[in-house]
Amino acid sequence: MSYSIFNVIKYDYCIGCGACAYADRNFTIGFDKLGMYKAQYNNNIEPENVEIADKYCPFSDNTIDEDQLSEIYFEKDLLKNENIGKYIECFAGYVKEKPFRKTGSSGGFGKWILYKLIKERKVDYIIQVTEGGGNNELFSYKVFRTDDAVLKGSKSAYYPVTIANMLNFIRENKGYYAITALPCFSKALRNICLQDNVISKRLKYIIGIVCGHLKSSAFAELFAWQLGVFPDNLKSIEFRDKIKGMRANEKGAYAINKKDEKTPVKSSKTLFGGNWGHGLFKYKACDYCDDVLGETADLSVGDAWLDDYINDPAGNNVLVIRNKEIHKLVIEGIKRGDLKFEPIDVQQLVKSQEGGLRNRREGLQYRVYKQKRKGKWVPKKRNFHFFKIKHERKRIYRLREIIRVKSHKYFHVAKEKNDLYYFINKMQKITKKTEKPGLLYRIESKLYRKWQPIKKVLNLTK
Ligand SMILES: Cc1cc2nc3c(=O)[nH]c(=O)nc-3n(C[C@H](O)[C@H](O)[C@H](O)COP(=O)(O)OP(=O)(O)OC[C@H]3O[C@@H](n4cnc5c(N)ncnc54)[C@H](O)[C@@H]3O)c2cc1C
Repeated sequence: MSYSIFNVIKYDYCIGCGACAYADRNFTIGFDKLGMYKAQYNNNIEPENVEIADKYCPFSDNTIDEDQLSEIYFEKDLLKNENIGKYIECFAGYVKEKPFRKTGSSGGFGKWILYKLIKERKVDYIIQVTEGGGNNELFSYKVFRTDDAVLKGSKSAYYPVTIANMLNFIRENKGYYAITALPCFSKALRNICLQDNVISKRLKYIIGIVCGHLKSSAFAELFAWQLGVFPDNLKSIEFRDKIKGMRANEKGAYAINKKDEKTPVKSSKTLFGGNWGHGLFKYKACDYCDDVLGETADLSVGDAWLDDYINDPAGNNVLVIRNKEIHKLVIEGIKRGDLKFEPIDVQQLVKSQEGGLRNRREGLQYRVYKQKRKGKWVPKKRNFHFFKIKHERKRIYRLREIIRVKSHKYFHVAKEKNDLYYFINKMQKITKKTEKPGLLYRIESKLYRKWQPIKKVLNLTK
């Protein structure tokens, strides 16, 4: 049997979740020089252990896919949509009960549901991401035991995190758990539960976080640097402050230095790197993932990027609910007046994530095609309907890959040179091309347009 986890690591498709390190001590997870958690393995590794790690890894070919996992974990009578997976009902709105919305990324539902689960004794422990970490990370996973402590969870951490230690904690400490997880982390957890009875019995709820892509630690450093805090002097960062009078997607950012001095808040749209579509510092794995909505999680929480909600800077969530108990908690919360959520049509839900879905479906198809054409290994992906991709979109997808690769590299050099503008100038040359087609592209598309009728006449249109 060939273990594809070796390809995942070798060809840089590792997301650093740590599932392999939980499976076997010969795998370790650590920050690479570009600021991403990545797995490494010891060459003396025992083959039987590789088999387990291979079955846990969310990018391994020797696992089942998100659709198959949802068939196992969710009830048969759920509805299904190609873009969001299985679901009972979708909602948009916010938490009225204080202080969740004020202290949350958008509507505050993420921490509210964790609070409810522990308060109603459905779980004994909450595992969520919070600020700080044992190895000077700006964010990391931690375990919480009381309902009040849930509020210590971070807002959206656009920053690498890893769960190997958390899995060890679950194994060593009896009780029921709820954990927050990005889609790939949720898949890893489901993979583990298929093999590991202890984790399977104890892990009761996965609270999915909708995900466009994950970033390296350089994203936090780039924002902080522009706000006036040099990367080495950065103590913490806020990506999701709410700015009065602005639209919800004008996320406020500020940094705190090691002397505990706070910078002014700036809209992330005014900072270089704030355009999510450019995908600076993205993990390569995210370009080869097809799950935006956390299809294997009991619930997925995202931002309501919809016309009816986006003008409210206090923030609104979208929810995709797949677990009947969580559905009941939401319906009861609405009736009590703790929640201000209303059901939304699945198409509206999809619309709220249309950019991410386009990149993870149409864009993914193109990226996989390009890799395969070069004879390179790519992780196995689900078969969605075939997208006929426009010429211009292909150009954007190609540029995004260049941005991903170059942003990691140029930022590393910029830090060595202590020159932020080295990075910004280098990158702007590329990001500008996504907004305005370059000369070569204009010539290419002119030729392409002229060639189409000729191709038709010659009957070469296959
Ligand atoms: C990397 C990343 C990419 C995202 N991309 C999108 C997107 O494309 N579209 C979209 O609609 N939403 C996206 N989100 C989710 C969105 O930013 C909000 O986190 C989500 O809507 C929850 O908002 P809330 O008000 O309920 O948050 P809160 O009530 O503040 O709860 C947030 C919860 O999420 C946990 N959390 C934060 N960061 C992480 C993390 N990295 N891994 C695991 N748990 C975490 C916190 O511990 C907390 O429990 C992304 C989030 C992250 C971290």
